[in-house]
Amino acid sequence: MKRLPVLVLLCALLTACGKPGTPPPKGPQASALPGYPVQNAAAVQGSPTLDRARARGRLVVGAKEDQPYLGWRDPATGQYSGFDIEIAKMVGADLGFGVGQIEFRTIASANRETALQNGQVDYYVGTYTINANRKKLVGFAGPYFIAGQSLLVRRNGHSIHGPQDLAGKKVCSAAGSTPYQRIRQDYPKAHLVGYDTYSACVDNLITAQVDAVTTDNAILQGYAAKAPDELKLAGKPFSTEPYGIGVPKDDRVLRLAIDDALVRNMRNGNWKKAYDATLGLSGVPAPAPPLIDRY
Ligand code: GLU
Repeated sequence: MKRLPVLVLLCALLTACGKPGTPPPKGPQASALPGYPVQNAAAVQGSPTLDRARARGRLVVGAKEDQPYLGWRDPATGQYSGFDIEIAKMVGADLGFGVGQIEFRTIASANRETALQNGQVDYYVGTYTINANRKKLVGFAGPYFIAGQSLLVRRNGHSIHGPQDLAGKKVCSAAGSTPYQRIRQDYPKAHLVGYDTYSACVDNLITAQVDAVTTDNAILQGYAAKAPDELKLAGKPFSTEPYGIGVPKDDRVLRLAIDDALVRNMRNGNWKKAYDATLGLSGVPAPAPPLIDRY
């Protein structure tokens, strides 16, 4: 079978998204999304990142573009949507930037630290696990969500029920991600294949060139929800992946201002409303928002 990009395959499975620009049937519903009134952030002073953003008149936010319900870029309109995108917008509004003043830029898992270090993006919201190694290179506000590593297989597959079944199997993940690292370290008998994106892995799963895709359950649930006749999750989550907002390492003022924005939006109901209108559509009800870890 000829290799097609995942979007084409998913759209072929979901006949309803045939027309360019037609939203996917279960995609985020604009009406259910919260609005984010721009706050006066004049009191937030001493952030070099924010100073640069103020001077240029807009925020540049790193995100993913191929993760349904989390970070998704509509190829017809160029618009980004999903839970991570809503988190980026609610934080942006609290920092003084309206939705029209946020420019999203797609950055792959392996390039996040460099993008933050060289100022390519002001902050990053894209299923980005907080961990000690990464904290040596970047700062993290949050967490704003807790996921866990899981496995995606073909619906008709019966041989993989957990990571212990991966020996001798081809398993695909994104280079530079924590799930990729974990398979390499803890399950060395698996044949690990690394791509830039999870959608490339899902293409290879659908065409039977790999046996499983591994990353966070929140990401895999989105792919499974878009192609329920083809794909399913296997087994239980086998790690804890707290999602943070990546910021330049030394910009403590920005990091704590983002923590404040997260707390405010968790308390006023925006966080849950945003979840229900995005990630909730992949079938998992909203958990309680996690506790922010100010360090
Ligand atoms: N949360 C994991 C990570 O940050 C996997 C998802 C991703 O690659 O964005 O590496």
